[in-house]
Amino acid sequence: MTEIPLQQHIAPSGEQMTVRDLASCPPPERWHDWVEYDARAWPRKVEKRYEIIPTICFNCEAACGLLAYVDKETGRVKKFEGNPYHPGSRGRNCAKGPATINQVNDPERILYPLKRAGKRGEGKWERTTWDEVLETFASKIRAAIVENRRDEVMYHVGRPGHDGYMERVLGAWGVDGHNSHTNVCSSSARFGYHIWCGADRPSPDHANARFILLISSHLETGHYFNPQAQRIIEGKMKGAKLAVMDPRLSNTASMADYWLPTWPGSEAAVLLAMARIILVEKLYNHEYMRRWVNWQSYLAAEHPNEPQTFERFIELLIDLYAEYTSAFAAQESGLPEETIVDIARQIGHAGTAFAAHTWRAASAGNLGGWQVSRALWFLSVLTGSIGTPGGTAPNSWNKFVPAPFLKPGPSEVWNELLFPPEYPLANYEMSILLPYFLRERRGKLSAYFTRVYNPVWTNPDGTSWIEMLTNEQQVELHAALTPVWSETAWYADYVLPMGVGSERHDLMSQETHAARWIGFRQPVLRVYQERQGQAVQYTYQANPGEVWEEDEFWIELSWRIDPDGSLGIRKYFESPYRPGEKLTIEEYYRWIFEHSVPGLLEAAAGENLSPLEYMQKYGAFEIPQEKAPIFMLNERELKPAELAGTRIDEQSGKIMRNGTTVGVMVDGKAHEGFPTPSRKLEFYSATLKDWGWPEYTTPGYIPSHVHRSTIDPERGEYLLIPTFRLPTLIHTRSGNAKWLYEISNANPVWVHPIDAERIGVETGDLLRVTTEIGYYVNRAWVTDGIRPGVVACSHHLGRWRLDTSQGTDRWASALVELGRQSDGVWRMRHLEGIHPFESDDPDSARIFWREGGVHQNLTFPVHPDPISGMHCWHQKVTVEVAHPEDRYNDVYVDTRKAYEVYQRWLAMTRPQTHRPDSLRRPLWMIRPYRPSLNAFHS
Ligand code: SF4
Repeated sequence: MTEIPLQQHIAPSGEQMTVRDLASCPPPERWHDWVEYDARAWPRKVEKRYEIIPTICFNCEAACGLLAYVDKETGRVKKFEGNPYHPGSRGRNCAKGPATINQVNDPERILYPLKRAGKRGEGKWERTTWDEVLETFASKIRAAIVENRRDEVMYHVGRPGHDGYMERVLGAWGVDGHNSHTNVCSSSARFGYHIWCGADRPSPDHANARFILLISSHLETGHYFNPQAQRIIEGKMKGAKLAVMDPRLSNTASMADYWLPTWPGSEAAVLLAMARIILVEKLYNHEYMRRWVNWQSYLAAEHPNEPQTFERFIELLIDLYAEYTSAFAAQESGLPEETIVDIARQIGHAGTAFAAHTWRAASAGNLGGWQVSRALWFLSVLTGSIGTPGGTAPNSWNKFVPAPFLKPGPSEVWNELLFPPEYPLANYEMSILLPYFLRERRGKLSAYFTRVYNPVWTNPDGTSWIEMLTNEQQVELHAALTPVWSETAWYADYVLPMGVGSERHDLMSQETHAARWIGFRQPVLRVYQERQGQAVQYTYQANPGEVWEEDEFWIELSWRIDPDGSLGIRKYFESPYRPGEKLTIEEYYRWIFEHSVPGLLEAAAGENLSPLEYMQKYGAFEIPQEKAPIFMLNERELKPAELAGTRIDEQSGKIMRNGTTVGVMVDGKAHEGFPTPSRKLEFYSATLKDWGWPEYTTPGYIPSHVHRSTIDPERGEYLLIPTFRLPTLIHTRSGNAKWLYEISNANPVWVHPIDAERIGVETGDLLRVTTEIGYYVNRAWVTDGIRPGVVACSHHLGRWRLDTSQGTDRWASALVELGRQSDGVWRMRHLEGIHPFESDDPDSARIFWREGGVHQNLTFPVHPDPISGMHCWHQKVTVEVAHPEDRYNDVYVDTRKAYEVYQRWLAMTRPQTHRPDSLRRPLWMIRPYRPSLNAFHS
């Protein structure tokens, strides 16, 4: 290869610049004054000077590092690029990271707090003051706390974007009020992992794997996909083989060595067949299984008359999975039998270097989807690849959440709107059922915050959410905390503009690979102004308009709820450095960096910086492994001090202290083990038996609600996959990113040519897709990239607004008419597609896309899995040529039918008359925002 000659240039600073300098990331020592040529001035060489400030992307959960280039001439952010000093993303971002600049400069953005001026949902707004907002909410929340109505305050979050901050706020208030989006996202995948090992997410070490199995489109859109995608490719380049199980030919599947287009819902059957092959062909890791699987519990409970030996356990295991032959798996999934066998063998041979991942995908689509992640983890257990180099760790071994100062105790309240008695094992809150619970008068909400959360658009049965939000008896006061207009904000009392990724502080850590790191999100214009010597008291003073950052909002609100400290709340928001005075956000993070991050003090001292200055400079820190090891943590031997006051249960080997299990004896030594009741990997789950599901004590296969036997394409029936993301969009808040909409602006229905011929459509023709509660009209995209009998439509498009000039951004939304009839039937019709508009941004006049996609989620009823609580997204639909009266994006929904479907799925639960120990939930299971022990007892 010819070396490109370096052209040299003397920068104003006197340093020599080269073309190579301009082509790679600036070194940190020059971030204070970086010089680049102005691209717009080309061919003239006009220099621009920048202050470069690190922050963290807020456009998905991966928390990649960004560098904001602040133009020293204008004091405005010019662009965002990757931060190579971020351990997770290493300077690489997806399209959504640099598109943060669109969000900053969006001419449609909300710059001031708004208050409704008419009825809820009427669309009349007036500007208000933050002072009025804070006073209104403080008095409402204070009254609820004082009157002990602590289940009436609810914070409902879509994208958290921080670790631990709200736990502290809600804990200080003493409310059980955290609700999440998790049961439209990952509850089932989490449950399958959790029931095995006590952690609810996987952390694969793809870069060092020999075989990688993904049940998702993980290279382009999965969980933490950009940091993991880099490492998957790294692993592949080092020789790893990649298999992708996905009914769609996603970009990920197209990069794989094996594309496994399973019939949706059959994945667990395939994985169990692979497990059986590994067992029968003795490819399993004998020692790992013997030491770390709770096989003794299984034998004692299910085979008490058999020899209680590991060898007998393996024989019984083979018997248990006898029906999961490769032929059976092939029949269920439609995969070739020989491929299943081949991959099983390769996984077995990869041994401890087998990395695997599933997250939303099959787990999120199907009834019993949690058995998919459970069966996948079974393969990791069989190969002994749990937490090994090249294997898959529990997420808690890689994620690091540093403790803040003065952490509040747990709440004494149990909120049954969040964790109702029907779902004692639900992995997260039963969020999607809130409208029905309020309708059934199970409770009400005095103060409701939706925060970067758009349930009207994101959740199934969005019209029931509109009915809930417009009912002032059910929801007395509602604020939408959001960086961007949304369909849900339209139905709020207050719309409160919050900062985008470069306008706020947050601390984040994710299990992106085999390491532990923290990332520090910073409001870059505030940092810039402070570096210029300007005093900034609050972030909103540096942000555009009056855009607040939430951290400061919660501090202010908490002070107003408890102005004299008599409720015991204020003390959590007082400075740890200036007793009795109000906490500043700098002090909050300064304390954490000084006290809670192993190795940071030393790293900062090495550069003559304080820990806070170090984090401000680099925006991220990787915790040295000698300070916090990451591999095989279950093997850690307990120190004598940790064994003080413990006793060993002779039969199980559990090491107990005051009724709690703190470790386990393995081969005569005391080990930390896993955070499960047995401290081992729970192949056998006594929890599922004790809580009413004895048929699921071991990994198994639950035929999906959309099992192929229930669907007959000859009758026009198909299985709809509505779950897949587009790589370039952000669930519900990329409407403010013009570059992203320029790339992706339609969500046609994928149809296989065989099915298209049967239906009688070609690409571009209109289809009517009918669900249990309604229908939508969308265009067909005929493609071989989907298996016959299955249709697919991304949930990422179909944004709408009800007003010509307000509401969801015009880059992304169509103007629609949405009406409700007295019988509970809702109809939506396009009035006007997306079209150019005049604004301060000349690009708004250049919009060329028109339709903007179809909002399919409105036509889905809720399908809560009776165990994990996950909404099972896949739908049995009929697909036909659109009717003569149909128009693109017509949506029809009957909320009475939606309520009936909810009741049908609710009836699948098994509410227990006698709960073990009168508990609401097993004590060992994770419960976000865990209340006190007392609250667990009903
Ligand atoms: S992967 Fe997520 S966090 Fe990373 S750049 Fe893309 S949107 Fe941002």
